[in-house]
This record gives sequence, C-alpha cells and structure tokens, in this order.
Amino acid sequence: MAETDEVCMIELRSFEAEELVNRLRGWGFIPKEGDYKCPQCECPLALQQQGRADGYLWVCNFVSIRKQKKQKCDKTVSFRTGTFFANSKLAIPQILGFIDLWVEKAHLALISKLAKMSLQSAVYWASFCREVLLDKYLMHPEMLGGPDSVVEIDESQFGRRKYHRGHRVEGQRVFGGYERGTGRVFMEVADNGSTDTLLPIIKKWIRPGTTIISDYWKEYNCLEREGYVQLKINHSINFVDLAKGSMSFSGRTKDQLPGNLARYMFSKSCAERRVNKTEEFYRIAALMYDPTKPDTQRDPEEVSDEYVDKIDN
Ligand SMILES: [Zn+2]
Repeated sequence: MAETDEVCMIELRSFEAEELVNRLRGWGFIPKEGDYKCPQCECPLALQQQGRADGYLWVCNFVSIRKQKKQKCDKTVSFRTGTFFANSKLAIPQILGFIDLWVEKAHLALISKLAKMSLQSAVYWASFCREVLLDKYLMHPEMLGGPDSVVEIDESQFGRRKYHRGHRVEGQRVFGGYERGTGRVFMEVADNGSTDTLLPIIKKWIRPGTTIISDYWKEYNCLEREGYVQLKINHSINFVDLAKGSMSFSGRTKDQLPGNLARYMFSKSCAERRVNKTEEFYRIAALMYDPTKPDTQRDPEEVSDEYVDKIDN
C-alpha cells in the first residue's frame, strides 16, 4: 500500500517551521498570502520568518508617501491571533498531536503523556474540542434526508453553564441528526423537549420521506403524520443496558451533554464519509477559527466547565 499523506504525532514534532506552516495552510488554519488584510491599513499582510515562538509573524509592508516622506505601516499581527491556537502556550505540534489522539478516543492520561502536556491541559483541550464541534454543527447545520435516506436523531440537555458570549442555556436542549451514507449533520438549540418544539425543528432540517431512527421519541405517530417513516427501536434488545441508563440502542455511552453528542455525530459522520477524523477535525477547527473572520468566532477562553473528564489513572 502506498504511503498516505496523513499526519501522525511523531512526524509533527520533526516538522521544520516552514513545513508546519505549509501544512497549517493546507488545513486552512493559516490564511493564504493576500487573503489576510492589515487591521490598520487594509493592505495584505505578509508572513515573515522571525525568531519568536512559532517562527513567524504577519507584517504589513505598505508604504505611503506623505509630504514627500515615505511612511511604513509596519503593523504586525502575531502568528496565532485569531487562530485555533490563540490563547495557548503549547507548541502547535502538541495541539495537533493532541487532536490526532483525541479523535480516536484515547484516554486523556495517555494523550497527556504522549503529547507532553499536563493532564490539566489535556482536560482543557478535550473540553474545547467538543465545543468546537458543537459550534460547527449549530452554526453550519446541513439539510438532511429525502426519500430512501435514513437519519438518526438524538437530543441532549445542557447542564449548569453558559454558552456563547454568556448566553444562558441552562435546561435548554440540543437536538441533532445525522444522515447515513452522506454523514451530513444538523444541530439546533431547543427550549424544551416537547413534541411541539421538536417537530418544527425536524421539519426544518429533515426532508419528508426520510426514514427517521430515534430511540427516545415517545409519540411514534406524529412523525408519520408529517410524512416521515419512523423506525421503531425494539428496546427489549438492549433492555439491560438501558436499565443501567448508560447505553443507547446504537451502543454509545449516553451521558446527555451537547458536546458529547456533537463528538458522537462527528465520529459517525467521518465513518460514513470515510474521511480521516484527524484531518476532518483540523478542517472544522480552521473553519471555526478563521483569523480573517474574527467576528464569527467564539472566545477560546470561554470553554465550558460542564464536562469533567473522568481520569482514573
Ligand atoms: Zn498596514
């Protein structure tokens, strides 16, 4: 088998600064020359090599002539400003390496050892990565379904926390679905879990004629009245698991937090589309933290403390 272009952690550490920048550009983390405008004069910034942490800095080389005097803009922007890596003191290969293992559900204690970061850092990044996926699906939902397609739906509830610029979400739910075959995903925040609230969301994101699989929907008839085919789950199959309250019919651990639901749908989506999970996560993180679009971003420091990863050695 031919060697793939996929990254692995060992490789990441040995990258020269220039190779790393090329890779980061390829994934979309770093803007292309010409796409990134100077915040002071709107001229394109140039990426220049220099001695600081990441080895690069954005510089504005614009020169204006005023009263026969040359005036350089000289505005500089840090390499990480507005990127997924902003606000972290870890080396970029450490963060990329963390993700490479996190998407495979490696234990955080193992990741912290391999990526040479503290356990506390690993816990923070795990939480942040879940939020990135949740943001992606809430902010860029996709239309699903149609005749012959199958969509799995699920919901989860926010705990005691704030979400996105301090907006209170306590008690609210996240409702989502993913389409088998295409791996398309949508998510939406709902005020409650009532049929009156959820049905309009289903009708908004899932085309009629779709077969819908749900393991919690109580009112089986209402979906069929709306032109959907509902696959009823035989709960007796997994009765023991369900009784323990931990497993759904699809076998996933169900702890009902929106970030975990997003991560679950991400894994399913990658498997359906046969894409590399690491590279797909990089692509999503780059989309959510585009330095040329700072207004669309969430403050990376605003990470939920709702998730407490269990670390038993
Ligand atoms: Zn400038």
